[in-house]
Amino acid sequence: NNKPAQGKHYVVGTDTTFAPFEFRSESGEMVGIDMDLLRAVAKDQGFSVEIRSLGFDAAVQALQSKQVDAVMAGMSITDARKKVFDFSDAYYDSGVQFAAPKASSVAKLEDLRGKRVAVKTGTAGADYADSVKGQYGFTTVAFSQTADMVNDVTAGSSAAYVDDYPVVAYSIQQGAPMKLVGDKAPAGSYGVAVNKGTDPELIEAFNQGLANLRANGQYDQILAKYLGAQG
Ligand code: GLN
Repeated sequence: NNKPAQGKHYVVGTDTTFAPFEFRSESGEMVGIDMDLLRAVAKDQGFSVEIRSLGFDAAVQALQSKQVDAVMAGMSITDARKKVFDFSDAYYDSGVQFAAPKASSVAKLEDLRGKRVAVKTGTAGADYADSVKGQYGFTTVAFSQTADMVNDVTAGSSAAYVDDYPVVAYSIQQGAPMKLVGDKAPAGSYGVAVNKGTDPELIEAFNQGLANLRANGQYDQILAKYLGAQG
């Protein structure tokens, strides 16, 4: 069978506000690079999807408790996660990034000493912040949504936040009054996850569909739609 998931239906968990990968359009529809890629792959491979906007950590937990079949949420493929999940081929190279208000005196990670940094529960960014907080002398506070991290920084309660580089860069490009602090740190490319040993046909279908979209130009079109020419 050259379309291994043909006729199947999958429930896919995703993040809530993680533009440009998943966010709500003005009409309330889930849009973004992940959402468009998923729908295009599903169409190419003849399967259907129901998307659930849960939040990153909640989506991962929903997968582990089998309330969803897969997660597509800008999820970094990491060695630790590969012990419990099977991942598709990578579809986007990412990294993690600190950001602070444009007007703030924080210009480099050394300036975070004694300050508080907002992180997102269960993410590669949170792991990275934890791995350098001793060195730079800051504390962390965890939130479940990107929007809550940004609000905490805007309110002045945290001096900076950590999120995926393309998400921070996109928000600044869209006019958020933030600036990048420190260098982008590597955090693994994004893949679609299923529970280990389950749904190999979904992984296979996603990989085939992704290869088709890369070959027929749709992959580039979707990236360009959200990122412009630099996509
Ligand atoms: N890429 C990061 C991770 O996988 C963050 C994902 C997200 O916040 N949606 O941990």
